[in-house]
Amino acid sequence: MKKIVIVFLFISGITLAGYFVISNANNQVKIVPRAQINKINKQEPKIKESFPFDSILCSFPRPILPNDSLLKLHLLGKFDYTKDSFFTAVSAEHCTKPTYLQKETYKNFKAMFAAAKKEGVILKIISGTRNFNEQKAIWERKWETNIKTMDSIGAAKKILLYSSMPTTSRHHWGTDMDINSLENSYFQSGQGLKEYNWLKKNAAKYGFCQTYTDKKTVVRDGYQLEKWHWSYIPISSLYLKKYNELIDYSQIAGFKGSKLAEKLKSIEEYVNGIDKNCKICD
Ligand SMILES: [Zn+2]
Repeated sequence: MKKIVIVFLFISGITLAGYFVISNANNQVKIVPRAQINKINKQEPKIKESFPFDSILCSFPRPILPNDSLLKLHLLGKFDYTKDSFFTAVSAEHCTKPTYLQKETYKNFKAMFAAAKKEGVILKIISGTRNFNEQKAIWERKWETNIKTMDSIGAAKKILLYSSMPTTSRHHWGTDMDINSLENSYFQSGQGLKEYNWLKKNAAKYGFCQTYTDKKTVVRDGYQLEKWHWSYIPISSLYLKKYNELIDYSQIAGFKGSKLAEKLKSIEEYVNGIDKNCKICD
């Protein structure tokens, strides 16, 4: 008993004097100064990826964004991209149908296209910017099919495997595009595999990132794996940040099943359900 009291007094004494008694992983007791304890507690956990996304993607010059009222229309797809000064038509050699992208996105895509071509890889955009009405047409076509055989939640969830509700699609933003095929299987062998490997290795140098990576290997919510969907991060990472500031569920409306958006956590799990490497530059 006497021994315990003496140890207690000793520990209390050094704590008051600015020292702490701690035990390490091997249960060895150490006495360390208070200042050092504060330093240990302040250390941030190391979560940065080894792949150089942060050093490459975040080294791009900060883009000029539209003012908040126009930006809000971009985020919701409620604008005419053929007349918007931030957008431009894509040349036929880079796409398979008439396509528009933000000028900055397209400039960097062209640089990536040229580099890939030199290595025998052709990157064709099969879908670029889509506005609210175009996304609504895709959504409601799938809705009408699904609703014949399932309830409304089931119908929406099935569409949400690969397609967005209008007002929540990154394709509204002019930063995102689908390249070469809409089938993951295409990218598993032959030319498709060569294209995908090239993009995985090089796209970040031009500012592009695969947003919908494999949920079996990365932690994220939302859509299934899409090896074809690439995003110009220097702009889209800022658009995502602004989406979370400016948009709420009252604006996700005007299409069949839109009332389910909040229940399905469309903003939290789908708009924000992207690979974490694609949202670090803010
Ligand atoms: Zn896409």
